[in-house]
Amino acid sequence: MAVDKSPAVSARGATKSFGQLRVLDGLDVDIPRGVTYCLLGPNGSGKTTFIRAIVRLLRLDSGELRVLDRPVSDVEEIYSRIGYMTQHKALYPDLTVEENMQFYSGLYGIKGQDREDRIEELLRMVDLSEHRKRLAGALSGGMYQRLSLACTLVHRPELLLLDEPTVGIDPRLRKTFWEYFQSMAEAGKTVIITTHLMDEAERCQMVGYMRAGRMAAQGSPEEILNQAGLGPRLRLWLAQP
Ligand code: ADP
Repeated sequence: MAVDKSPAVSARGATKSFGQLRVLDGLDVDIPRGVTYCLLGPNGSGKTTFIRAIVRLLRLDSGELRVLDRPVSDVEEIYSRIGYMTQHKALYPDLTVEENMQFYSGLYGIKGQDREDRIEELLRMVDLSEHRKRLAGALSGGMYQRLSLACTLVHRPELLLLDEPTVGIDPRLRKTFWEYFQSMAEAGKTVIITTHLMDEAERCQMVGYMRAGRMAAQGSPEEILNQAGLGPRLRLWLAQP
């Protein structure tokens, strides 16, 4: 099979304003396939808006955005190939852990033994196997977050977008998550993460640093964090709670 070398995400002149506020200001970026990619930048620099444009939760005012080599307007085609997790994923509080996963599997037409195998594997990964019969509404914040991730991964997305995915997750599980993200990248999938945690930025293969709605710098974590002027400021900013 031919390897697809097109970027996972490609933006040219992406622009988005809310009223007078120009949040994306002619953003140009290519995010390659098969990497873990960290989106960094101060609050308000447009990271979440960019991610929401990729998953088509909002439309750009102008510019071009391609996702998995399709125009982002091809929502139907792209939808089943991407996974998006915010800190507020809509889980069903009156369904059990297992039933939530069955529901999300059903959305993607995953059935039978395949469905059970995937649920088993993911519940083990997020350390919720023993809690499968608990109602989602009765889970702690961290457990809820872990179930959100499991539901986001059930259709094995080619492109995974995660907004602060390890907030409230204990260090041991964070490590497990990272191993999983890295194995996804090794399998040619793309994982885009926003984070405020320095060690997480350093774990990614690439970092894109956004400022005022543009990509100010992109490269390996070492390149970005050590760039003249940028590194010390970024370190200071990342050190804030
Ligand atoms: P970041 O994720 O980098 O913190 P965001 O993309 O969330 O930045 O937000 C950039 C700016 O756009 C912020 O000032 C935010 O208040 C504003 N903004 C985001 N979404 C909306 C919206 N739906 N309506 C109005 N303003 C918004």
